Amino acid sequence: MAPTPNQEDSLCYDLPKLFTRDGAVALPVAWNLKNLSTSYSEAQHLGGELRAEASGEKIVVSGELCLTWSGPCRRCLETTNGDNDLIISEIYERDSTEGETFELPMDQLLDLRPMLQEQILLALPLTPLCSDDCQGPIPEEYPARPESQQEGNYNIDPPIDPRWEALGSLTFEEEEEN
Ligand SMILES: [Zn+2]
Repeated sequence: MAPTPNQEDSLCYDLPKLFTRDGAVALPVAWNLKNLSTSYSEAQHLGGELRAEASGEKIVVSGELCLTWSGPCRRCLETTNGDNDLIISEIYERDSTEGETFELPMDQLLDLRPMLQEQILLALPLTPLCSDDCQGPIPEEYPARPESQQEGNYNIDPPIDPRWEALGSLTFEEEEEN
């Protein structure tokens, strides 16, 4: 039976069936999210398609999903919306490694929701912006600063600690053993 979109149950796989089937299984995702938010933005909907593939003793789940979110603009504080792509590529296995793979529950339904919730929380924007040229609430008095001067911009290389600079000039010679 094909999974039915718009139902949270559709995010669960019947593992024994998956392992007895050849190739990969496609799973449409259409998940209306509730109560999944950070202090900065709130998840609304996750859509797209995932693929689950049995590979030996493992299940590989991959695909590209689109997350829509809402949150207050960091400059004008008006509620704004946006969407972020979620690239999913996760491995489920027995005796999983924390932080790297997910535990594979044998002979049960594999529920993808905990993994997806983790990914959603990582993808939610920390600094929503209603538009690139948002001028903030009172642009006459408080003009928006250029992006490069704002907090939270990590594109600028921090100055090198002088204690580390000396290391840059060190070279290591490998001793050759004959
Ligand atoms: Zn704004």
